[in-house]
Amino acid sequence: MSAQIMDGRGLRDKILRDLALKVRKFKIEPTLAIILVGEESASEIYVRRKEAAASEIGANFRLIKKPKTIKQTELEEIVKTLNHDRKVSGIVVQKPLPAQIESDEIDLLVDPAKDVDGLNPISTFIPATTRGIFALLDRYDVQVAGKEVVVIGRSKLVGLPTALEFLKRNATVMICHSQTRNLSAKTRSADILIVAAGWPKLIKKTMVKRGTVVIDVGINRDPKTKKLVGDVDFEAVKDVASKITPVPGGIGPMTVAALMMNLVEAASRK
Ligand code: NAD
Repeated sequence: MSAQIMDGRGLRDKILRDLALKVRKFKIEPTLAIILVGEESASEIYVRRKEAAASEIGANFRLIKKPKTIKQTELEEIVKTLNHDRKVSGIVVQKPLPAQIESDEIDLLVDPAKDVDGLNPISTFIPATTRGIFALLDRYDVQVAGKEVVVIGRSKLVGLPTALEFLKRNATVMICHSQTRNLSAKTRSADILIVAAGWPKLIKKTMVKRGTVVIDVGINRDPKTKKLVGDVDFEAVKDVASKITPVPGGIGPMTVAALMMNLVEAASRK
């Protein structure tokens, strides 16, 4: 039997509609400020999606664009100015940043109450991709407590915060990464498999136990077709998984929706 497809787009649309109602009803005035450094086309696409979502919920949007030669001190000054700007409720420093920038230092500077990306260790928000994953799992009634969860990827942006959130929700968690040996043996033990490696078709049918819930976070460009693909061999794996996210249309839209949830929360606290 084929897996149930977890529809991130549909849930994103519903979340944005609900947020728009909330913003109007309670006269919340969210303002999202994004700092975009350089001219990477993928980053520009992600920023445009965030801008569109902000507009859908009735939030203000500010884009601060800087050349890729920007110095650490200048970027730090911009973050500090946004921290002090009472109109700004959420700040995003779009990644990746150029090599001369100490990215962790920038994350530490963002006011934890405005850190809607959740990258400051003392942020009051769950990082957007992680929050998006859990919103989708909840929507499809996936129970987490007591489950064996395997997370592939240990990045600060996705793998690590997602693994931690599963732990908080009483799952048993294993984190795999590029040095992990015999990945198949690990992935086959998963009741819930989260894949965030950035490697097209890393996860094949033989690596997934029947009935597993498969969440594909990866966003890659297929070198041949130039289409967007995930990290999971979707067509094959959907025959063994019980539920699976597509790429596109799964975790990507959920990440934007979760960012807007964080933004409205940040604005509501003011
Ligand atoms: P990253 O490069 O920072 O981290 C990748 C992680 O995967 C590393 O920990 C690495 O050890 C591990 N890894 C790489 N190859 C592996 C392999 N062959 N076997 C096991 N582990 C391996 O990337 P990231 O920022 O965490 O993003 C991961 C993927 O998720 C990318 O494709 C990115 O585009 C995508 N992403 C999607 C969203 C979304 O909204 N859907 C958000 C952020 C990132």
